[in-house]
Amino acid sequence: MAKPVRPWTDVLAYRQRDRRIILPLTVLAAGAAWAFLGPAFALAWLAANLAVVGCGVALCDWIARRPAPGDRLESALALYTFIHTVAYCALPIGLADDGTKTAVIAGMSVIGGVAMSSLDELAISRRIGGAALGAALLCGLVGALIAGQHPAHGPAPAWLKTGLALSGVLAFFGYVYQAAAKRIGADNRMAEALAVARRKEHEAAEANAAKTTFLATMSHEIRTPLNGVLGMAQAMAAGELSDEQRQRLSVIRQAGQSLTAVLNDVLDLSKIEAGLMQIEATPFDLGETLQAAVSAFAQLAEHKGLTLNLQIEPEALGQYRGDPTRLRQVAHNLVSNAVKFTAEGAVEVTAWTGADGWLSVAVADSGPGIADDQRDKLFDKFVQLDASTTRRHGGSGLGLAICRELLALMGGRIALESAPGRGSTFTLSLPLERLAATGAAAAVAETAPLAGPPLRILAAEDNEANRLVLAALLGHAGADLTIVTNGAEAVDAWAAGDWDVVLMDVQMPVMDGVAAVQEIRRREAAEARRPTPVIALTANAMTHQVAEMRAAGMDDHVGKPIDIVRLFAAIEAAVARAPAAEDASLRAG
Ligand code: ADP
Repeated sequence: MAKPVRPWTDVLAYRQRDRRIILPLTVLAAGAAWAFLGPAFALAWLAANLAVVGCGVALCDWIARRPAPGDRLESALALYTFIHTVAYCALPIGLADDGTKTAVIAGMSVIGGVAMSSLDELAISRRIGGAALGAALLCGLVGALIAGQHPAHGPAPAWLKTGLALSGVLAFFGYVYQAAAKRIGADNRMAEALAVARRKEHEAAEANAAKTTFLATMSHEIRTPLNGVLGMAQAMAAGELSDEQRQRLSVIRQAGQSLTAVLNDVLDLSKIEAGLMQIEATPFDLGETLQAAVSAFAQLAEHKGLTLNLQIEPEALGQYRGDPTRLRQVAHNLVSNAVKFTAEGAVEVTAWTGADGWLSVAVADSGPGIADDQRDKLFDKFVQLDASTTRRHGGSGLGLAICRELLALMGGRIALESAPGRGSTFTLSLPLERLAATGAAAAVAETAPLAGPPLRILAAEDNEANRLVLAALLGHAGADLTIVTNGAEAVDAWAAGDWDVVLMDVQMPVMDGVAAVQEIRRREAAEARRPTPVIALTANAMTHQVAEMRAAGMDDHVGKPIDIVRLFAAIEAAVARAPAAEDASLRAG
């Protein structure tokens, strides 16, 4: 018989469970003993068994309190189990001795029941379960011998009948033993399968964590050179160029932006899969959010000769609580696809609130449409219906998969209505809390590059190409810029000067940006200096990384590749939020 895999102390749990049924059963059995064998035997048997059960309860409780019960305690419990089984089986032996048919049948049934009940424990401890089974076997044999003493009917001699009864008892116990062996085998296989499943689960979790780290690292490593490419392209676009050069530059920018979009998609998907995607719940204006997603394609739609309209039903206008960034991202993806795949006609974006209070946004196009059998596939990762359109329009096949996952995270869903040749309508629905019917829609202003007197900007950046990008972008915007190459130099330069804003890269040699901003914040507190706005300017783009930067004392985060409009907006917002200039007197003191 295979060795059980569970610790023998699991038997204690069975004993604990059995406590509630063992007393009533013992009393009931004593009643039966009374009926067959009279009060003297019944009371003596009951008293002996109650005493044994009491000892058993005390023994099990004592073992359970031991810090690490060893082999000797297992043997002690096995010995107790043997004694208890024999004490209990005194009743069926008594019944066998009674000799009447009903008494013998009742007695042997009790022994059979005791043998079967030892199966559970035999699958946990061979010693303890074996003691119960051995005691029951012994009592069964004794019972058969005693019953054989009674005057027999039938042609065969008494010794033969007793022999047959003994073989019957042995055969029965043989079957019980075989059942126990099978049970242990099944338990062991189950435990092995469970261990394999747990190991695989652990390995999968480790692989997933490694994948997330790999993606975060690759994202950082790709964004850094991409920042050089896109930053310089933006800086060059601001200068004097011939039409041909401007056209070539626009190709570089578009290619860089596509690469950034793929990078963002892969990163988003890995965040969703790792359960790291966080959904915000902040107040936002629906009109502003959808307008931002739609107007990004106005130029492209015009270029293709498409009509692009946004229509929000009056009762849906206003403020909601939710995640505007993710809603914009989903709408952006749907409008991007609609404009991308539609050759002529119109793209209509409509928003309304349903009777159930859910917000719906539909993006309808007059494009090629989608066949029924392809509908479900579309929302899978890396699925593109037509390779030739993909070659023409680009794309990674991740957009709709991300839309579906993001909507699910926000508690919403996406539906598609389409037929080949009749256009497509993607409709997203979201349960969003309504805040106010009419929102104080902030005017969406194009950011004028750093208006006002030149800002004193300190930038820390270890990558030479990116230093050139910063010098080109900010120098062109008329900033008074000082660039250092690591966090330690940034802290020294900050201490020696008076700055409107600090732009801090994060991964730098000597001292990283997070340690540098912590040191700056520490010194500001110690010297009661006016806090200088510090903006993290980094290729680290994972949500948890951004949260760590803010916790360390960064006021804002601008990702790389740098988008010039976003950078200028962040600088102006940080400067506007900074304490008024008169507070600077503190700084002198
Ligand atoms: P991508 O656009 O990056 O290829 P998506 O997941 O956004 O990836 O879309 C997957 C595929 O679904 C597209 O390649 C295209 O074949 C099909 N598709 C998406 N939107 C439309 C649409 N509005 N009209 C026709 N086909 C579409």
